[in-house]
Amino acid sequence: MNEQCGESDGPDDDDAVGPASGNASESDGDLVGSSSEEEEVDSFLDAGGSEPSAKDEIRGWPELREQIKSDLTTAQKEKVALTHINKLLILRNFATLRMKGYKRIPASKEIAQQWHEKGGAYFARKIRILARHYQRFEQVPAENRGGDGGCSMLNNEQVQTAARTYLMSLSTGEVTPKLFTRTLNERILPTLGLALEKGLLERTGRRWLIRLGWSRTRLKKGVYMDGHERPEVKEYRNNVFLPLMAQYQKKMVQWLPEGSGLVRVDPILGPGEKRIIAVFQDESTFHANEYKQNIWCAPHRKCMAYFLTFGPRTQPGEQKLMRKGRGRLIHVSDFVEEENGRLIVHNEEGVKVKDARVITYPGSTGDPWWDHTQLLAQIDNALAIFEEAHPECTGLFIFDQSSAHASLGPDALRAFDMNKSNGGKQRKQKDTVIPMTNPYPEFRGRLQKMKTEDGQAKGLQQTLEERGFKVQGMRLKCSPVCPFENDDCCMARLLSKQDDFRFQESLLEQKIKSRGHICVFLPKFHCELNPIEMVCLFIP
Ligand SMILES: [Zn+2]
Repeated sequence: MNEQCGESDGPDDDDAVGPASGNASESDGDLVGSSSEEEEVDSFLDAGGSEPSAKDEIRGWPELREQIKSDLTTAQKEKVALTHINKLLILRNFATLRMKGYKRIPASKEIAQQWHEKGGAYFARKIRILARHYQRFEQVPAENRGGDGGCSMLNNEQVQTAARTYLMSLSTGEVTPKLFTRTLNERILPTLGLALEKGLLERTGRRWLIRLGWSRTRLKKGVYMDGHERPEVKEYRNNVFLPLMAQYQKKMVQWLPEGSGLVRVDPILGPGEKRIIAVFQDESTFHANEYKQNIWCAPHRKCMAYFLTFGPRTQPGEQKLMRKGRGRLIHVSDFVEEENGRLIVHNEEGVKVKDARVITYPGSTGDPWWDHTQLLAQIDNALAIFEEAHPECTGLFIFDQSSAHASLGPDALRAFDMNKSNGGKQRKQKDTVIPMTNPYPEFRGRLQKMKTEDGQAKGLQQTLEERGFKVQGMRLKCSPVCPFENDDCCMARLLSKQDDFRFQESLLEQKIKSRGHICVFLPKFHCELNPIEMVCLFIP
């Protein structure tokens, strides 16, 4: 599934009205100047394994100042952009003040005053972020500007991870598009050297939230998510998901009502056919915290959360508090299946000996954030456990869409990541085969290399022209987002709608298929089809 910015998030004009939105504007004051500001900057900088990697040791300002001076000399010789030189001048200034005994905040304020007459506090924070970046990486951050209103910035894994890191650090019910957009503009993007001149609009922030998998949920009435009736969701549900499930169901055990109970009916299998057992995966990230009526709900809903929070798993000394009063952050990735409840192996005495569940404690002082690499490793283990628990059966592994999206791999085809022309900084993508649904039949089935002969990444224009599309004069990417329900408003959207870009086999699928099992993704926004989500409804 290829998702882009241009997609609407459905009915999107109802702002979150949770209790948190009222005090959103005050909530960042508590970070300014505290050591947690530095910690937070560090966690954004480290998000997604930024390049270059940070220095192991942070050198003192006297040494750094010498380096800044030599960077300046080089920069002036090479006539680099003024903004770059300005940053070095600011850094030199900052280093000097620090050596004179100024603390971080007063030093940043002092410089802000010298450079700007107004906007002092915001500018001072940018200076501190810049200084922290230099301390960590010993170079000035690269200047990137999102010419498309920030739309493509979210394709940057570092931005995604930093945004997720931030969102996860909030408690349930605190996430609002307003607060999120503000934090992106003032903290996350500047930290990553991605500041936009005008800043992202709140509606873009809301889209980002949705794309990151957050959706607005009212817990009181049970789990519901918007977007059920979006055309592509409907198409997938009715034409792909439901027929597939119907086909698999014939090979699954059925539980039919009889009297006051249910009776197990085994499937009738043909020669060589194996019984299928459905295994649902779900992830939750949560703080132990109170129930709110109206929340922006994390992709991996908090449901299991409550469930597990009250379990006896907190061990002494293991407590890792994120921030005061919020409780630690826990991430659980687990599988449920009908025979054993969860994906486990037990011995003859019924004692559990193997368990596919993985619990991590992410956050700045804990484990790394859960990502597709960890999920893929967990799947290896889960497959082995399944095969041991159910020899002679086929596992039907069912995942949320976000897992599919996340595990497309680093060379996935993503039209919105591409530039118009070949080469340059764009990511190199894997080769593809022009799909049989290509509108120009003469190109169907042809291998299409996504790198030019001299090894450069192929741009949108050539890629489309090789499929027969006439793209002369066509817009490259819509700004700020593509119009809703449009397939050829721009080159990026056009290419993203081609079947090879739309239907890419995820690494998850490949792994599961290669061991003879089945992998299926739930239609988007249909988390209620996943029984693990139902746990939600039973939490008081
Ligand atoms: Zn467009």
